[in-house]
Amino acid sequence: MEPAEKIRLPRQRACNQLNEKGKHCCGHLKRWYANPRETQAEVYRCERCHTVYLPNPAEEPRTGTLAW
Ligand SMILES: [Zn+2]
Repeated sequence: MEPAEKIRLPRQRACNQLNEKGKHCCGHLKRWYANPRETQAEVYRCERCHTVYLPNPAEEPRTGTLAW
């Protein structure tokens, strides 16, 4: 099965992907450095189901300025 790809919720630490039983995976999200597209982006991946979490555009941890 192809791993899913989601936008990470602000300060999300646990995977909320539904598993085959319809329950949240709750796996721990770990920083994933093997992202082939944007190495600068903070990409996380669930260590259990390998769902990839892309950075949330609404969450700007460093600059503090939001560009809508
Ligand atoms: Zn998961």
